[in-house]
Amino acid sequence: MHEMAITQSVVDAVCERADGRTVHSIRLQVGCLCAVVPDAMQFCFELVTEGTVAEGARLDIEEPPGLAHCRGCDTNFPLQDLVLLCPCGSADVEVLEGRELRIMSMEVG
Ligand SMILES: [Zn+2]
Repeated sequence: MHEMAITQSVVDAVCERADGRTVHSIRLQVGCLCAVVPDAMQFCFELVTEGTVAEGARLDIEEPPGLAHCRGCDTNFPLQDLVLLCPCGSADVEVLEGRELRIMSMEVG
C-alpha cells in the first residue's frame, strides 16, 4: 500500500508549512495516473495525522484527468488509465498530465 508513504510525505510537508498552527483542511490534486486510491489515502491520512497539528483535518482530493501526446499522429488525447495507446494505434506517446500529486491549498489557524 504505497498510499501510506505518499500520505506520510504530504502530511510531513503540511505540518512543516503549518508551523505549529492547527490545520483544518487540505486540498490535494492527485492525477488519475498516479495509481493512488483516494479512499485508501483518506484512510492513511487519518492514521498519519494522529497526534499532529493536522489531526481531524479534512482531506479533499481532486483527480484531474490525464493527457497524453502522440508522436505518431502529433495530437493530444485524454488518458483515463495507464494504457499508453493513442486512438490512432500508436504507442509512441508521452504523458503530459495526470501524474501530478500536489498540495493545492490548506486552511490553518
Ligand atoms: Zn496517435
